[in-house]
Amino acid sequence: MQRNRVQFQKGLSLGAFLQRYGSEPQCAEAIFKARWPRGYRCRACGSRSHCRLRTRKLFQCNSCKHQVSLTAGTLFASTRLPLTTWFLAIHLLTQSKHGISSLELARQLGVSQNTAWQLKHKLMQAMRERDERVPLAGIVQVDDAYWGGQRRGQRGRGAAGKTPFVAAVEVTADGRPHKLRMSCVKGFRKAVLRGWAARHLRPGTRVHSDGLACFRGVAEAGCEHLATVTGGGPASCEQPRLRWVNTMLGNVKRSIDGTYHAIDAKHVPRYLGAFSYRFNRRYQLADLVPRLVYASANTPPMPGRLLKLDESYV
Ligand SMILES: [Zn+2]
Repeated sequence: MQRNRVQFQKGLSLGAFLQRYGSEPQCAEAIFKARWPRGYRCRACGSRSHCRLRTRKLFQCNSCKHQVSLTAGTLFASTRLPLTTWFLAIHLLTQSKHGISSLELARQLGVSQNTAWQLKHKLMQAMRERDERVPLAGIVQVDDAYWGGQRRGQRGRGAAGKTPFVAAVEVTADGRPHKLRMSCVKGFRKAVLRGWAARHLRPGTRVHSDGLACFRGVAEAGCEHLATVTGGGPASCEQPRLRWVNTMLGNVKRSIDGTYHAIDAKHVPRYLGAFSYRFNRRYQLADLVPRLVYASANTPPMPGRLLKLDESYV
């Protein structure tokens, strides 16, 4: 039997992780390289000549004396935690297929559950933002879904308490899933789908959906729209044109339900974003730690209050 390419890849072992990122100077060096891959450059005067002050976490320009902290302006800003704790959180969050609950993360890191929660949500937000930078293109299967209720329950009417989201899978020409995108939306209306498509699909994308009227909105955003009228029910899941989006919806539900207890509706976008981030990089498991370090070093700081807003809805 052919071994599954995703399941049997090596990933980054804890030993290898600790060898690379086990100390503060190693983590600081990794952030430095992610922030200034072509070497340090002063933000104020452009000079490259600089020195490191005190803890190696503060840089001073030799020309104009402007100072920049290693973590200022990044996701790691104003943290009181050691960088090694952040990096271990990145390791645990990326290397497990289904993510990690904040309770378990707190145990593993030796921090309070509140601290673990903040850490995890900041990292998940960085994953989500990173993942959504490039729109899907080519052939895309889309479907409407709800978090926190039966997926094929009432649509629109009676969906109170459930979080609506659009699931989209970009498939290759030979019909394999390539990239996943899941976005919480304010509802399944044509104008909402037009806005969603403008942000998440490249113009000219061929979109397959079922017969739900709102999906016609993607055509108004310059995409080609092909609707398959299924009549709903289990038969709709067997539509080959929508096969992957239905499969992925089942997978994400099982994964998140199996790992976490209850998810506040406000935070659903981050869970879906982190799941997509991992899926879209499923062949690069070993690279996920340096990649998320890079993304975090290039993501603006995120005060705790921002995490509590439902800013993430389209
Ligand atoms: Zn300067």
